[in-house]
Amino acid sequence: MPELPEVETIARGLASRVTGDFIESVWLGSKPEPLKSPAAEIAATLQSRRIADVRRMGKHIVFELVGTRGRSGERAGAKAQWIVHLGMTGSMLVCKPDVEIAKHTHAVVKLASGRELRFVDPRRFGRLSVAREFEAGGSEPLDITLDRFITLFHGRKTPIKSALLNQKLLRGVGNIYADESLFRAGIRPRRRAASLTRENLRRLYKSVQEVLKEAIALGGSSVSDYVDSDGQEGSFQLEHRVYGREGERCLKCKTVIKRVVIAGRSSHYCPKCQK
Ligand SMILES: [Zn+2]
Repeated sequence: MPELPEVETIARGLASRVTGDFIESVWLGSKPEPLKSPAAEIAATLQSRRIADVRRMGKHIVFELVGTRGRSGERAGAKAQWIVHLGMTGSMLVCKPDVEIAKHTHAVVKLASGRELRFVDPRRFGRLSVAREFEAGGSEPLDITLDRFITLFHGRKTPIKSALLNQKLLRGVGNIYADESLFRAGIRPRRRAASLTRENLRRLYKSVQEVLKEAIALGGSSVSDYVDSDGQEGSFQLEHRVYGREGERCLKCKTVIKRVVIAGRSSHYCPKCQK
């Protein structure tokens, strides 16, 4: 599942390609799952709008839409948002109309520039919706202050790994970046959040931001079938120190990396480096 760095990479790629373009028409497939808002509402909201920006909020891609192109020209102040959640296998591609439509394409948005935005999702966990002012919930891990971060986790009885994955606290951190951040902070995933000292939380805060920034710089992690809006893979998976390395040796101390299941999710850690 794409996490914050992958969604950030995709949103930046889309922003550089389609910002300023006009949406001429919208085709939506017949499968109901990807449509979180009614099809007619999505089509009506997108049609004849200009894409003012594309940005990431948590794990969502948000297209900022303005105006309506009609006989009376652009209607000022008519703002709306198109929200895309990629789910497990969703991708958002910008392509020329003569590129063959892939199987499992659920939306095709024709742009005035002649290109198309296509939403493809084989497993259909992705969601398309529209909103006036989207509320993503939780705090952005790259914007949050240290004090606020400490307050979020302070006193929680759940394992710190579960708290990091809780999107109502921090938004966008998933399994990979939670494991990698905990390794760098030297904290075991099963430790109760409440047992962490202020110094532990300060280290975790630093490592969460560091890991996310490094991953964004490398275009995210291409595990399973993630590609960006260009069809390019990220390369942060080559920097993973614990995630997906069960049974391999720790790069720091040579201890064998362990995997445990916490709240249904795999967690990877070094039993020596992490306490
Ligand atoms: Zn180690």
